[in-house]
Amino acid sequence: MKRVPLADPVELSLVMNQPTVPEWDDYAGLLRQIFDAKWMTNFGEMHQRFESALRSRMDVDHVLPVTNATVGLMTVLRALDVQGEVITTPFSFPATHHVLLNCPGVRPVFADISGEDFGLEPDRVREAIGPETGAILAVHALGVPGRVCELEEIARERGIPLIFDAAPCFGVRYRGRDLTSYGDASVLSFHATKVFHTAEGGAIVSSSPDVYERCRTWINFGIQDEDTIVAPGLNGKMDELRCALGLVNLPGVDGAIGKRRRVVEAYLRFFRENRFEGITVPLERYRDPDVELNYSYFPLLVEPGSGRSRDSIAQALRSRGVIARKYYWPTILDHGSFPGPRGKFPVAGRISGRILCLPVNPHFGEAETGKILDDLEQVLEMGR
Ligand SMILES: *Cc1c(COP(=O)(O)O)cnc(C)c1O
Repeated sequence: MKRVPLADPVELSLVMNQPTVPEWDDYAGLLRQIFDAKWMTNFGEMHQRFESALRSRMDVDHVLPVTNATVGLMTVLRALDVQGEVITTPFSFPATHHVLLNCPGVRPVFADISGEDFGLEPDRVREAIGPETGAILAVHALGVPGRVCELEEIARERGIPLIFDAAPCFGVRYRGRDLTSYGDASVLSFHATKVFHTAEGGAIVSSSPDVYERCRTWINFGIQDEDTIVAPGLNGKMDELRCALGLVNLPGVDGAIGKRRRVVEAYLRFFRENRFEGITVPLERYRDPDVELNYSYFPLLVEPGSGRSRDSIAQALRSRGVIARKYYWPTILDHGSFPGPRGKFPVAGRISGRILCLPVNPHFGEAETGKILDDLEQVLEMGR
């Protein structure tokens, strides 16, 4: 492959993941409207416009913008009055677990993941369910759909809600539908590191008008009307400035996903042409015609047979300015925030100890991708 030379490779280390930004004038135009209206938050015009733009883009029934995914998840759990044990995964970003610890009356119960899609393994969920189970909180780990239909079936059989932490999944589709349309509610993150963002932000997605109304009340202090407070709610409203940022960022999201896809395809091509002992590429297996990814992550698994540790590969890449991330390491049980039964979840432990995500940035061109692949080739050759 012909490589375009880079002007300054050192600069690369700064740009491993950059948000997309809209045209300044487009945002400024909406800011001007907000200033003229003198309406900054509390479900104003930008909020309404953003909500309806999201609804039609995603083709889902209800979308509620919130301050971030963490507050969104907590809102769903509290608004649905989830109590008792909640079956969840040890393989996620810490927030998934922390929201459970912040809900009174809720106890996290872990179940192991699948080695294929890194989401909850339905058989393990069945084993973990007991008389005290109040809900399932699953995660589409690294933006890859888990076994959503089987989890839906389990939840339906048990009559318990199924909630998805779908934080990195904006734009992911499964069986012809937006991934967030599965389960009783899903929560997206619009943090600047995600495919689509509002700087900080997120959204609760549900097909149930009841779930939507409860969540909307909850994120507004539990206030139903001027004289009635129905729940000990929080403040999770997205303000007008961020809703405006979302509105102007939204039209660019397909382009950004396309650019990420080109980076991921270059990585896939590289690993088809170059085999490295002990390095496996999970995305090669995700040729599932039911799944449309948003190309948020490009994970590698560094197996023991590679002759190199995952950490030494990460370190060698870093010294060349390529920042690869260990998502999700450590597992939630090894964070220290949970005195958990370690070693009980062998698949999560194995994946977490081996995973390394290469940078995927919508601003990468051929030069950047080529430079990363050159570095990767050198680093992985050293392990042969
Ligand atoms: C990003 C992320 C979060 C946190 O989202 P915030 O909007 O920053 O609160 C939670 N869970 C997962 C799986 C994530 O990737």
